[in-house]
Amino acid sequence: MFPDKKGKFGIFGGRFVPETLIAPLEELEKGYKEIVKTKEFKEKLNNLLKEYAGRPTPLYFAENLSKYLGFKVYLKREDLAFTGAHKINNTIGQVLLAKMMGKKRIIAETGAGQHGVATATASALLNMECVVYMGEIDLERQKLNVYRMKLLGAKVVPVTSGSKTLKDAINEAMRDWITNFETTHYVIGSVVGPHPYPLIVRNFQSVIGKETKKQIIEKEKRLPDYLIACVGGGSNSIGLFYPFYKYKSVKFIGVEGGGQGLNTDKHSATLTKGEKGILHGSFSYVLQDNYGQIKITHSISAGLDYPGVGPEHAFYKETGRAEYFSVDDKTALKGFHILSELEGIIPALEPSHAIGYLIENKDRFKKDDIVVLCLSGRGDKDVLEVARIEGEL
Ligand SMILES: *Cc1c(COP(=O)(O)O)cnc(C)c1O
Repeated sequence: MFPDKKGKFGIFGGRFVPETLIAPLEELEKGYKEIVKTKEFKEKLNNLLKEYAGRPTPLYFAENLSKYLGFKVYLKREDLAFTGAHKINNTIGQVLLAKMMGKKRIIAETGAGQHGVATATASALLNMECVVYMGEIDLERQKLNVYRMKLLGAKVVPVTSGSKTLKDAINEAMRDWITNFETTHYVIGSVVGPHPYPLIVRNFQSVIGKETKKQIIEKEKRLPDYLIACVGGGSNSIGLFYPFYKYKSVKFIGVEGGGQGLNTDKHSATLTKGEKGILHGSFSYVLQDNYGQIKITHSISAGLDYPGVGPEHAFYKETGRAEYFSVDDKTALKGFHILSELEGIIPALEPSHAIGYLIENKDRFKKDDIVVLCLSGRGDKDVLEVARIEGEL
């Protein structure tokens, strides 16, 4: 299976980093390999996921939405995981791993603040010091999440370099890690970055797909025809897809942020419109200009607003295992409203893109098709923004 020993998914992935980062990455890879297979780690993690994070999350048959669309849709309810999204699966796993490796300090970067909050939560739970790097512009935009992290005992450090947003916060966190890796673990929030991160994050998020497999077989006595999820860095989607990889009858659909349209500069459709390149230590698809400089992206949902994508997705695209599409801001808003009205579930704007895809492409599916959609998070965080956009406030 993949990745191979060098962290490659086919030609993608790897470890394209300055020499100073090789030592901490090798130490992490070794620690991960030794610790995750122990009984102690497995028991502790399973217990925390169950008692603290609320797993397993339900696989809910959305009857009203299914009637509306004309085929069967199940929602994997990651919105019901503690803190309201799938991100907690990864942060609890990584912080527990760090603790068992003897680390005392956790660092992370965050854009919208969701990953920062999930990391601060896991750090509070496991008694670890926590520092979160955040671009100055994002700090201003996401005041509530900044305060949440502070309540949870984390220190939030403003980043004033570059574009003062997520990619600069990642650079700053890497700098901290190089200096302090003996005491410190760097929690990356998606299936991106240098090897072994895409592997580690995928394995922690695979709990989504493993549960789904068990649940759909209980309910339908068969595997689904389609899995669909939104793709930012790609962790909730890979978490759902990966445990079904070898079942070729199960088709995978990833949906990226189409922003204001693919013929504008305002989108974050990395797999649809990007080119092969290197970002944050990994060879994958990247949104870049003719000089290889990283483009500024846009999406109505902060979680999809990233110019890179996990190398495993690049590999799935290249080999035809998954299909990737983009859905624009407007269609995502439609998905947001329709799920709220039909099912009484207000989704986050990120998975609203996947709902939007089903609405716009419902003719593609047959009446007895079974589709599982990863509802990666709840919409509370987005309600104010949607109200503002729609002129309700
Ligand atoms: C962060 C986030 C995403 C995007 O991240 P992936 O790594 O692509 O899963 C999607 N949905 C929600 C609710 C998020 O918070």
